[in-house]
Amino acid sequence: MHKNESFELNRAAFLAGTVAAMGAGLTDRALAASPAGNAPAGPLPSPERLLGQLMAGNKRFVDNDFPDQSRVAVKRELLADSQAPFAAILGCADSRVIPNLIFVQGLGDLFVVRVAGNCPDDLVIASLEYTVEHLGTRLVMVLGHQNCGAVKAVYSAVKDGTKLPPHLSTIQNLIAPGINSVVKAGGSIMDAIEANVRAAMKDLRTDSPTLANAEKSGRIMITGGVYLLASGAVKLIE
Ligand SMILES: [Zn+2]
Repeated sequence: MHKNESFELNRAAFLAGTVAAMGAGLTDRALAASPAGNAPAGPLPSPERLLGQLMAGNKRFVDNDFPDQSRVAVKRELLADSQAPFAAILGCADSRVIPNLIFVQGLGDLFVVRVAGNCPDDLVIASLEYTVEHLGTRLVMVLGHQNCGAVKAVYSAVKDGTKLPPHLSTIQNLIAPGINSVVKAGGSIMDAIEANVRAAMKDLRTDSPTLANAEKSGRIMITGGVYLLASGAVKLIE
C-alpha cells in the first residue's frame, strides 16, 4: 500500500468514527477521542466493525432513539473541505427508504446511490468505485426493501412474458436476470427482492474489477440488506 493511500484510509477511518460519534451519537471512544483535523493513530476500523456501526444505527432507528442535532453545525464545518463516508449504500429511490434516516447517520457518514430497484448500471458502479477508491469507504451495502415497486413490476412482467415501456424496460433488463428463477419457481415477491439484492452484489463483483479486488484484499466488504417497511429493521442478506 502506498503511503498516501494509507494516510487517506486512516483519515477516512478517523472521520468515519469521529463524525458518526458526533452526529449520530454512536460511541467509539478511541476514535471520538482523536483530535479533530489530524490523522488518527491506531488501526483502521475493519469493514466488519463498520457494518456493526451501521447496524447499531438501524437499531436506534427501530427503537426511536434519535440523536441530538445541536452539534450539526460543528460537523458541517468539519466536513466543508473533505468527506470520508464510512459506508456506501446502493438503495432504492423509494420515498420510504432513506438510508441516512434508517441507519441514523448524519452528514458525511454515508455515500448514497439511489435508483429504482437498487440495481447497478455503469453510472452506479462508477459512483461506488469513486467512493471506495477516492474517499476511503470500506463498506458497500446493497439495500433492497419490502414491497419494492420496481421488483414487483419486473416480477409481473417476467411472469406474464411482457415488456415494460421505455425507460422502465431498462430497469427490467437489469433486474429480470436476477429474479427469473424465483418467478419461474413461483416464489414470493420477498424472495424476488432478496434475489435482486444478491444479484446486485454479484454484479458489483463481476462488473467492477475495482470493487472485486478491493474486497478480495480485505479493504472493503460488499454486503446486502433488506429494509422492512413497518418495523424499520434491516435484515442482512448473505
Ligand atoms: Zn423499491
